[in-house]
Amino acid sequence: MSPVSRIIVFTDLDGTLLSEDTYAPGPALPVLKRCRDLGVPVIFCSSKTAAEILALRERLRNTDPFICENGGAVYLPTGSFPELHLPVKRAGDYEIVEIGLPVTRLREVLREASRKAGASVKGMGEMSLDEVRALTGLDEKGATLARQRAYDEPFILLSGDPDSLKREISAARLTMTRGGRFFHILGDSDKGKAVRILADLYRKERGPVTTVALGDAENDFPMFRAVDRAYLVQKPGGSWTNLSALPNLVKIEGIGPEGWAKAVAALLKTEH
Ligand SMILES: [Mg+2]
Repeated sequence: MSPVSRIIVFTDLDGTLLSEDTYAPGPALPVLKRCRDLGVPVIFCSSKTAAEILALRERLRNTDPFICENGGAVYLPTGSFPELHLPVKRAGDYEIVEIGLPVTRLREVLREASRKAGASVKGMGEMSLDEVRALTGLDEKGATLARQRAYDEPFILLSGDPDSLKREISAARLTMTRGGRFFHILGDSDKGKAVRILADLYRKERGPVTTVALGDAENDFPMFRAVDRAYLVQKPGGSWTNLSALPNLVKIEGIGPEGWAKAVAALLKTEH
């Protein structure tokens, strides 16, 4: 049985734990293993779908809960929190806390809002498998998993002003955000809400815990605000996403997984 950790790590995937170009964890891999040995939960918190994250967890031997589709849902391996007093949907070996809106509704609002904003957009639901592959660099299996969306619709802006579109989407009480490759439309959900739900579950079970988050882009900002310590890794090229200052945010020198490995290795040294 692994020891009980007082540190809980929440991490973005694309561009953070995984290289934006190769989708590989590279130098983060040995640090992930160290987390596993020490019993430090590493919660994947991504705009990826549950199907994509499930495949990745298997590949990286991660068995912790996870957050998919930009905070659309929290997946808990059944029985992880025996005192769970939240409405859940059960699917396979998971209890799912649903936060987001159904993707069919998001697609309707996106169509309407882009019309009002005079913008032309293309959502992932309207793209062929080949288009998704070309835009993401994923292989056929990866692109198939990426299209299985339930709570978040990634889209590209073909023409028009992103700020006007964002205003129309906000007027419909939905959220528009930006990840590494796509804009996203989602309901009244974000990574931060999902992180708070999960951090509360850990606190109820373990007492005081230190929550940590790592990310690279705008859609990570709500997650950064929900944790004790936040780390922003560099984008390819070596710059950082321009985010408003947060007192708990540290910029890490290191692109994607390189920065991840540096930040988490230092954390394990000082906290364990
Ligand atoms: Mg990212």
